[in-house]
Amino acid sequence: MFSKRVKALATSPTIAIDTKAKAFKRQGVSIINLSVGEPNFHTPKNIKKAAINAIKEGNSFYTAPEGIVELREAIANKFAKENILTYDSNDIIVGVGAKQILYNAFQVLCDKGDEVIIAIPAWNTFVEQVKLTGAKPVLITLKPPFKLKANDIKKVITPKTKVILLNSPANPTGAMIEPEELEKIADLAVKNNIFIISDEIYEKLTYKQKHVSVASLNDKIKERTVTVNGLSKSYAMTGWRVGYAGGPHEIIAKMKALQSQLLAHTTAIAQKAGVEALLGDQESVEMMQKAFAKRREYCLKQIATIPNMSVNEPDGAFYLFISIEKLIGKKYPTASAWAEALLEEEKVAVVPGEAFFYPGYIRFSYAASDEDLKEAFVRIKRFINK
Ligand code: PMP
Repeated sequence: MFSKRVKALATSPTIAIDTKAKAFKRQGVSIINLSVGEPNFHTPKNIKKAAINAIKEGNSFYTAPEGIVELREAIANKFAKENILTYDSNDIIVGVGAKQILYNAFQVLCDKGDEVIIAIPAWNTFVEQVKLTGAKPVLITLKPPFKLKANDIKKVITPKTKVILLNSPANPTGAMIEPEELEKIADLAVKNNIFIISDEIYEKLTYKQKHVSVASLNDKIKERTVTVNGLSKSYAMTGWRVGYAGGPHEIIAKMKALQSQLLAHTTAIAQKAGVEALLGDQESVEMMQKAFAKRREYCLKQIATIPNMSVNEPDGAFYLFISIEKLIGKKYPTASAWAEALLEEEKVAVVPGEAFFYPGYIRFSYAASDEDLKEAFVRIKRFINK
């Protein structure tokens, strides 16, 4: 009955766990949900107010598929100011979250017979979206500290390589690519006529080094890079669904064409809210960044007190990718079984490494409240000591 494309399609394991955790919550169970990549903060007040005004002012009509000019100009301004990247607002597209923007980018660049290089551990959506195009995901397995190097990529480049996917800071490890490696990766892409899709959604959440946009390195790499970003993580706007990309004129034009046939555009109200997010007061962004930095410290200290758990200090994002290899064995043969038991017995939701093509690990989101994080460690320690 089903097409070959969707037969092989896996539903998002992160979303599946989050759904289970939210169902427990609805039943009144005291659940600590560290599964989904979502800030626990509410959207800042100034952004909410802009959306309310947008409704009152009658923004109830279709917009251009690529998004309203005002928002694309605000994005162009952001790229110029924060990423030293000059994009014309016509070479920017706004979509329903970075997820859908990535889908567009893979669809317009990839075909059956092409190869897309992705480093694992990786967010499973990258791999599933590549498979939906018919192209082959070529996975590079990174070892802790999970930092992607140009040499890793060089080894797997073939004449079929069409795209290199970069995600720095990365989900689920928080690892960032070192600037000198980024330069070398850019050179490889230019020399081998390969495109780069750079998912920079965690750029503002960095703790050790500043983020660098690959497309900002030189004009040659800019001509073959789609820079993807969104408002979900930095502005606590996951549910609003605003993602965007800047890129070469012809690629963005095709992404617009696809979008116009697929979903038209993200909601007019969310777009107006997005303008305020980018142009308005940035104080709440800084407040959230500081809170994440504090929680990161706290969680790292807690993990250090747990024998048999080890974690690499993440450079960015709001995840810890924790090795539980020493905790799995007879009782729980896999990280999935361990995570399932933790959810059933202690009502703590984390994502098993299998969801990132990396068994033996769990991903733990510290974008949760201080109280929830404290309680999570009480429960995790109790679970391990049972
Ligand atoms: N990219 C990465 C690396 C992510 O982790 C996520 C969220 N899990 C997204 C993109 C999607 O974000 P959005 O809400 O903008 O679709």
